[in-house]
Amino acid sequence: MELAAVSLDEGEDRAMNLRATQAEPEPDAAPRPAAMKFTYPSGSRPLEGYTIKRGIGRGGFGEVYYATSDSGKEVAIKLIRRNLDVELRGVTQCLNLKHPNLLSLYDVKQDELGDSWVVMEYVAGDSLEGALERHPDGMPRQQALAWFYGIAAGVTYLHDHGIVHRDLKPGNIFSDGGIVKIGDYGLSKFISASRRSGQTESVGTVHYMAPEIGNGRYGKEIDIYALGIILYEMLTGHVPFEGESVGEVLMKHLTAEPNLQAIEEPYRTAIAKTLTKNPDARIKTVAELLAMLPSPPPGTFLGGNGTLGAKVEAAAPSPARRAPPREKIVSALLVADEEPIARAIRTAFQQFTDAWNAGRINKSAKMIIIVVAAYTFVMHGFLLVPLAMTVFMMYGLYYAVRSVVIACRTPSVAKRPPVVQATPAAAIASPPPVRPAVRLPAPPYHRRVEAERANPLPIKTFRTRIEELSGSLLASSAAAAVMSVFLSVIHAKALEPGEFAWLLLVSTLGSWLVLIPSKFWEGREGDSTLRRLTLMVLGMGLGAAAWAVKDFLFVPLSRDWSLPAPVTEEYVSARFYDSDFSPSLIAHMAYFAFLMLLVRWWKQADPSRPSRLRFWPTAIAIFWAWQLYFFWPFPQPWGLMVAATMSIAVQVAATWEPARRRGSLS
Ligand code: ATP
Ligand code: MG
Repeated sequence: MELAAVSLDEGEDRAMNLRATQAEPEPDAAPRPAAMKFTYPSGSRPLEGYTIKRGIGRGGFGEVYYATSDSGKEVAIKLIRRNLDVELRGVTQCLNLKHPNLLSLYDVKQDELGDSWVVMEYVAGDSLEGALERHPDGMPRQQALAWFYGIAAGVTYLHDHGIVHRDLKPGNIFSDGGIVKIGDYGLSKFISASRRSGQTESVGTVHYMAPEIGNGRYGKEIDIYALGIILYEMLTGHVPFEGESVGEVLMKHLTAEPNLQAIEEPYRTAIAKTLTKNPDARIKTVAELLAMLPSPPPGTFLGGNGTLGAKVEAAAPSPARRAPPREKIVSALLVADEEPIARAIRTAFQQFTDAWNAGRINKSAKMIIIVVAAYTFVMHGFLLVPLAMTVFMMYGLYYAVRSVVIACRTPSVAKRPPVVQATPAAAIASPPPVRPAVRLPAPPYHRRVEAERANPLPIKTFRTRIEELSGSLLASSAAAAVMSVFLSVIHAKALEPGEFAWLLLVSTLGSWLVLIPSKFWEGREGDSTLRRLTLMVLGMGLGAAAWAVKDFLFVPLSRDWSLPAPVTEEYVSARFYDSDFSPSLIAHMAYFAFLMLLVRWWKQADPSRPSRLRFWPTAIAIFWAWQLYFFWPFPQPWGLMVAATMSIAVQVAATWEPARRRGSLS
């Protein structure tokens, strides 16, 4: 049968034949690395609900065991030592991904000792590493393509969901009954961090690393680079950059040109374009890469079954298979590409926090950093604020101009031609979404939060967003008015009309500045640091507006609360207060910028929040408004009243779609 010619399991068949000459091994007793010692022996139950059968292997950061659940399901469980809550968030994010070419993740659990375990699908079949070992001079092209299309489909799915694998290598790619399965996605943040720490580094792990990883750049391009290396390895039997030491291999990634002599076209050009040193010059999407390669062999099976995956028919190259026109790629890229300055700051910050959390900065260094930071902040805070604000304002301006330029150059998502769907390669890359055929009854209340997370929002068009937003803006003004009346009633002494107007106007504007960006962020994965920074820039605008309104209405904004010592002169000299002791423009901007920065306001406007109006988010907003007072002594209780009013107005006014309703929408 034709299938046999391209079966991924060609090697496995051979292995099976070999095994057939030996005693048939029990499933539990498959080859066990002789010299490897595992923490848990067969039969032990370190994780409730699972019995370990045997250790499978050890990787960059943990041990992998073959185990069975109490009900008899075979699973692989991966022990991740230390408490890696932060890193495991990546896995949690991936728990609900479903694709036939991704190894299923079942759960992430903690045992009694506090160690974390990832529970995942067990693959009895071979890994690509094993298959490569059987072909020291390169695989037959058809077999290589069958593997490669499967890998590409899985990676495209990850990329479409905003996830960069970061650790693509033959050891993380398996064949399960002929279907390619990619594993270890979502774990990679930690894997890369541990590699950077140098503790677990081995030569094998760096062969697939893109050169820009050294600069902390972890875009999708690093997966494309790894795909290029894997393809090279499948075709030639060895990786392009080899060396005796980690340093030597890394140096070759950075400087050496791969030797593509032995590789025929069209593979040669395709690989050359994935292995460019400069990530910006590299092929950008998996679909583009596939478009340069021959079709997958007839019968290549890339799906689990008819509904989950798709069979790729061998199609003669057609015009549709050509790479999308350059302008389209450029515009798609501009959208996908994070703003470079923000990315540089974010990666630097991420590396720093990684190093801090992973214990790579020792205790005394940490103390020194804290003391120096605190000293600088206390002694020079007032000088730093205007400086920081100028920088942020300039950045805000640049960001706004950049966004407008991109928006003008990019066709809207709805209108953009479906570049991906145009190719058979892409057809496998984006299988139809899996939807339950039967609508389930609404889950009980205690499972709501979980359900909200698992049930993503339907994608809204720009128009729907604008419609919803305009309703929310009106509603938030009304809610702010009601809140302002309420606060002026409970305020110790009745508010002057000017004070009331100030409170109402500032809170309304504040709630709008939260609702507007949140409407465009909703239903999208986004970097929270960037969101906070955006809100911070908006907060400066809010502060400036609050100051202008105060001046216009001649509101004194007197303090009900006394300032913490040391007072007056210093604040005046720092331009925090004007000489008449009323808070300056800078004071307003600083206070509101930080109020916007400290609270994750967009969560209060998220349609999937568990209930429309919740107490805690408001309490948190008030708490930060109060804490800020000790750093930027803005007259109080004005800041608190604005924070409370904004929070209530945002929550009352923002769209709220309980799971039940959303289910019927999708
Ligand atoms: P890395 O930490 O970079 O992923 P690695 O892939 O070598 O390195 P692990 O992922 O920890 O290390 O895997 C250790 C061993 O367990 C490997 O030999 C791998 O083939 C095997 N393995 C991992 N996951 C599974 C699974 N779900 N089913 C079967 N075997 C697995
Ligand atoms: Mg692995």
